[in-house]
Formats: sequence, structure tokens, C-alpha cells
Amino acid sequence: MPAREFLMIPGPTPVPDAVLSAIARHPIGHRTVDFSKALREVVDELKLLGESTGDLFVLTSSGTGAMEAAIANTVSPGDAVLSLVQGVFSERWAKITEAYGGKVQRLTVDPGKAIDASAVKDVLKADTAKKIRAVTITHNETSTGVLNDLEKIAAAVAAHGAVSIVDAVSSFGACPVSIDKWGVDILVTGSQKALMLPPGLAFVFVNSCGWEAQSHCTSPRFYFDFAKYKKSLDADTTPFTPNVSLVAGLKASLDLIRQEGTQAVFARHERLKSILRAGLVELGLTLFVTDANASPTITAVLPPEGLTVDSIRKALKSKYSIVVADGQESLKGKIFRIGHMGNVFERDILMTLAALKAVLTELGHKC
Ligand code: PLP
Repeated sequence: MPAREFLMIPGPTPVPDAVLSAIARHPIGHRTVDFSKALREVVDELKLLGESTGDLFVLTSSGTGAMEAAIANTVSPGDAVLSLVQGVFSERWAKITEAYGGKVQRLTVDPGKAIDASAVKDVLKADTAKKIRAVTITHNETSTGVLNDLEKIAAAVAAHGAVSIVDAVSSFGACPVSIDKWGVDILVTGSQKALMLPPGLAFVFVNSCGWEAQSHCTSPRFYFDFAKYKKSLDADTTPFTPNVSLVAGLKASLDLIRQEGTQAVFARHERLKSILRAGLVELGLTLFVTDANASPTITAVLPPEGLTVDSIRKALKSKYSIVVADGQESLKGKIFRIGHMGNVFERDILMTLAALKAVLTELGHKC
């Protein structure tokens, strides 16, 4: 019998049995009292998790859809936008913005490095004419495993007055995100990471400055028009047919998070990160990111001298059914990435380390 594949990738992540059972039920109609009740519950619960009193929309799309929704509702052709770039996903903000006609100024750091909030402050201070309308930020850069100091960066943006547009796809639900307190204007996330669902839902938080930007935005939009979602949400529904099965699953996954306790969930992710990083160093491997900037959800590591990422990934999969991710784009074949978010526990990290040790030894590395 083949072993069940174990996903140690940065999404999709393992789905708990309780969530799978909730999703497996027959779908309910989306224009029903039962669905409205479920939608209201998940929206309220997600707002608690994100510490937000603003609006939260549930989209049936992947995380990139939510990113596009954020830009389509805030950036008009010709608007100046500062994009904080440090890897594949932060660069995606810049590309979407350009697709909508925004004039992107990139503040770029090398892959594996964090965005320095004081550098952001300096760029924004120099913009005395206040031309920069929005700043795109990636809280947790999944392509390298870097967690940025969102609180400090959002404060720098708020001091300038631009709209902060944040991707928290691979951090939300795994570490603190305090939307109101940190002054974040728009924040997007997705279902298939720390929220422990399959892919298919995305979420957009919109606060008052986000609405202000939306009211002036001339970019074309239809499916992702925030105004439509707001009108529907006020009536506890969605403008279009939502993925009702995943909303049922979300209710189950948020129940699990509430039962464990949000702070306990965050602490578990911190613990997993530390155990994994210590274990990798013990195997003689080099971590791609310093401790100070290390992500609580994804760890990137270099292969040992003489071994390829491909050979390590293939052996982990064929011998132990453990799937880890390659590097992306310029980092393909240079690093491999181990995801540890959502439904992941100490046992899973220890098992991955043990399997990695066996594989590396067999491939000739002295652990
Ligand atoms: N942003 C980050 C930080 C991500 O990790 C991902 C997916 O891995 C995305 C955006 C894109 O999400 P999706 O693949 O759901 O469109």
C-alpha cells in the first residue's frame, strides 16, 4: 500500500480530518439562512484572528486573485506605487500593479534578506510631493522564508499617508497580525496555508484608508469589485456563487484554531521553526536566512556541497513520501524549502529531519 504523501511544502498544507469531513458533506445553497450564518461566523472569526474591525471579504479564488483584487480596487493607471521586493511573491505585487497601469518604484533587497523599515521610511520621506499612492508589502516571503517586520513597515507607510497593501498569504494564522493596531489598510491571505484548507478561498481585509483609495480608483473591475462584496456582506452573503464546501471547511478549521488557542498556535509555529532550524544545522546544512529574519512557516536551506536539490527531493519523496519544495526562479536548484504551517506538529518536524538525515547519508553526505 503506498504511504500517504506528506506535504512539507509551503502550501497546500496538510488538512485536518475534521476539516476534510466538513468539506465532504453535500454542498448547501449559498442563498440560504444556513450559509449566511456560516459566512457570518467565519468572517467574525477571521476578523478576530487578524485583529480587525474593518471589512473582510471571502473570495472564491487563489491568493493571487485576492492580490489582484487589492490592486484593481486601489491603483489607477498612472498612480505611483512603491513595491518592496525581496523574492517571487513580493515581485508579483509589482507585476500585478504594472498590469493595472501603475508606475512601480521597486525597493529591492537580495533574496533571503528582510525589508528594512528605515529604508522604507527614507524613500517615503523623500516623496515630499506625496506622489506615492500605495506601498505593496509581503509579510512573509515564501520563496525565501523571510518574515518582515510588518508593524514597523506599516507604521512608516501610515506616517507618509500612502495605502499599505499587504500579502499575508503565508503568515496569517501562524503568527500575530494586528491589522487595526499596526495601521494596515488592505491585507490579503489564502486558504491553503496556515488556515489548513485546500486551495480555493482567499480573504481581503479592507480598512477605512483602503475604502478611501477604492472610492477614487478608476481601474476596471467586476468579479473583484469590493463594492459588490461590501453590499453582499452587509446582507451576510456573497455577490457570486462562493465555494460553499470550503466555507464549511473553514468553519471547522477556525474551530480547531480557537480550541488550541491563537497564542498557542503562534507559539507552536515558533517552536517548529526553532526545532527544524536547529536540526538542519546539526545535519551540517546551511540555512538561507538568519535567525532574526526567519519565517515561522517556511525554512529554506542549501543542499550540501556536491549534492543536488533534485536528488534530495526525489529521495525524500520516493523513500519516505515526504514532499519538500524546490527554490523558485533564480533560486531553483539552489535551495530547498520546508513548509511548517497549519496542521503540523513536532512529530512531523522530527520525522522530516530523520528522513532527511537518512537520505543525505545515503547520498554520501556526512551528517
Ligand atoms: N503570496 C505568497 C506569500 C504566497 O506564498 C503565495 C503562494 O504560495 C501567493 C501569494 C499566491 O497564492 P496562490 O498560489 O494561492 O495564488
